[in-house]
Amino acid sequence: MRINPGFLNLQDRYLFALIGQKVREYKGQHPDQDIISLGIGDVTLPLSPAVVAAMQQAAAEMGRAETFRGYGEEQGYAFLRQAICRYYAQKGVDLLQTEVFVSDGAKSDLGNILDLFAADNTVLIPEPAYPVYVDTNLMAGRKIIFLKGEAQNGFRPLPPAALHADLAYLCSPNNPTGTVYTKDELQSWVDWALRRGAVLLADSAYEAFIQDPELPTSIYQIPGAKECAIEFCSLSKTAGFTGVRCGYTVVPQALVREGVSLNGLWLRRQTTKFNGVSYIVQRGAEAALSPEGMAQNRESIAYYMENARLIASALQELGLWFTGGQNAPYIWLQCPGGMSSWEFFDFLLERCALVGTPGVGFGPSGEGYFRFTAFGRREQLLKAMERLRQLRLSSL
Ligand code: PLP
Repeated sequence: MRINPGFLNLQDRYLFALIGQKVREYKGQHPDQDIISLGIGDVTLPLSPAVVAAMQQAAAEMGRAETFRGYGEEQGYAFLRQAICRYYAQKGVDLLQTEVFVSDGAKSDLGNILDLFAADNTVLIPEPAYPVYVDTNLMAGRKIIFLKGEAQNGFRPLPPAALHADLAYLCSPNNPTGTVYTKDELQSWVDWALRRGAVLLADSAYEAFIQDPELPTSIYQIPGAKECAIEFCSLSKTAGFTGVRCGYTVVPQALVREGVSLNGLWLRRQTTKFNGVSYIVQRGAEAALSPEGMAQNRESIAYYMENARLIASALQELGLWFTGGQNAPYIWLQCPGGMSSWEFFDFLLERCALVGTPGVGFGPSGEGYFRFTAFGRREQLLKAMERLRQLRLSSL
């Protein structure tokens, strides 16, 4: 027996482990200090009443013989796939129900989709990036080319025309940088993919946070995208489902490579290796996408976006360069005084008991940058901004 050598190429997941260790050490030395975290990538507001009511009703149905359900369709119940199609229709995107696949979240699908592609495909990853893109490809032994995000390209890198890759990741709104590609920029990606025969893996987990009506919330708003892109979405941040678990992936019928429909392949993959999401959760997801549910989601999103605005205005006052926070729950700032990501992490922890995420943890282009998230509670966040203001960072 030989183990998959791809796993040996993974780096230890030291980022969050090291953050945890540093915070524990600090707590040990300062037991009375109130540590505030602006590093969490998890929601803090509860589920909306519409979702809770739908899941309670579904649980009651499961407790009666006449309405009990066993296995459902692997790709999701028709009622939820239709609700997802209606959600897309509001964005001006027409989807067939057969193009929508319900799952337990975007992370699983982002990893599982790689089953469809040969191990010797080359993959293009713009970085800094959500670490799942890199690790899942390393596990599969695939060659990775990185595309550098930097202040000069607004952390929205575009593919050089001469560059070839078979697969490319897009994450817009971006975790960690909070940036969003414009329609023209996404069009460049689509045109590049069509010219190269590449497939775009478009992660739209944060689409619901986009406030500017001019910005695209789905890759399929871009002409040609159905011939070259798979889109991954999630109710985790849109509707507070991080603990409930539900997402969906769109594989258009028009996406064909080597004469084979990727939609058909994904259906085959899912029906072989996946047995669907629980009925109760799917009823909750349907409620989250209903007009009532969406109105309630928007209230939570508005709360987080107000947090983002408060962080942004504090950073502006302090004269720090940052991006994000306007159409995404992430704010990506340049560390003051030329500090490295980890130096700034230590500085904030030591000087004001504030925790964020060192940008270098998302790739080498993140060195010298730092991520704050807007998912915290308002009282804590206001306290955190007050502490930042007292530091006089601009004079460093
Ligand atoms: N994609 C991005 C960019 C994320 O930041 C996350 C979660 O943090 C996910 C996908 C995973 O979402 P899910 O909870 O649906 O698995």
